[in-house]
Amino acid sequence: MTARIIDGKEVARSIRKKLKGRIADLADRGVTPGLAAVLVGDDPASETYVTSKAKACRKLGLYSEVIRKPATISQEQLTEIVAGLNRNPQIHGILVQSPLPGHIDELSVTLTISPSKDVDGFHPHSVGLLLLGRPKLRPCTPAGIMELLAYYEVDTAGKEVVVVGRSNIVGKPVAAMLQQKGSAADATVTVAHSRTRNLAEVTRRADILIAAIGRPGTITADMIKDQAVVIDVGVNRVDDPSTEKGYRLVGDVDFEACAEKASLITPVPGGVGPMTIAMLMYNTVTAAENIMAADQDALP
Ligand code: NDP
Repeated sequence: MTARIIDGKEVARSIRKKLKGRIADLADRGVTPGLAAVLVGDDPASETYVTSKAKACRKLGLYSEVIRKPATISQEQLTEIVAGLNRNPQIHGILVQSPLPGHIDELSVTLTISPSKDVDGFHPHSVGLLLLGRPKLRPCTPAGIMELLAYYEVDTAGKEVVVVGRSNIVGKPVAAMLQQKGSAADATVTVAHSRTRNLAEVTRRADILIAAIGRPGTITADMIKDQAVVIDVGVNRVDDPSTEKGYRLVGDVDFEACAEKASLITPVPGGVGPMTIAMLMYNTVTAAENIMAADQDALP
């Protein structure tokens, strides 16, 4: 194996460590950052995500609330819950866990979240600021990828970056971040997707390859350049009767083979995953600071 393995847990730890000072400063001023997660229905994966987000809050000394509602909830009821959280001074970050049931219009729900509490960074206000290069709350997974690259001192300026996947939560925002002007960006970015012709030809150009596809083993060793940096966002369950749960988690990249060729590579699990939660904590603390500053500015 030639590649250095990126340790997402270590980078996430360093983010949390830096947050502790900011949380203590907020505490001195009587503020405990608070995160509310709204969980609709009984999807087991969503339950796991929300539980681990709440646990991460508690470990850092943040306030956390999980609001569980049945899948039969109406659009109006869900909107009212979010509106209540917008008004709640204990809450600085709101996330509505997806997927939502089919009868709920997800974008309408996102639009209801106050942009100042949009810790997922999915509100069009946050997306617009990101595209303008003036982000306030950045979507967590792409922001986590940027932190990984910075921690491992990956120079992105002038580099060819290929992002495979164009979702609103990973592919598009990470591409937007990397193409901004600035020292931690300045990359030449290509976004590929399921309609891309000759995907391997495109990915082989990448100095930095980011796979956010959701299909195990899509990126094989012949699709990457020698010494490429490979970031695997994918989280896929594959059957494995030898494990207690009967499955294991793998990424979108053929890790073993690509690790022979890459210079740096993220494992799954333990790469991008821990960063997503760390950046959610980061956004919640940032939102609390911003809200406190805005409240002070509003004082007569
Ligand atoms: P989406 O399903 O929303 O998007 C997948 C993208 O991959 C689409 O743009 C799709 O193209 C593209 N795609 C699908 N098949 C191919 C293919 N064969 N070749 C090229 N492109 C293809 O997924 P997400 O962005 O939400 O998530 C991607 C993966 O990342 C998932 O495994 C998810 O679980 C994981 N994830 C992990 C996180 C973490 O914290 N580690 C956080 C968020 C997601 P098209 O647009 O044409 O359909």
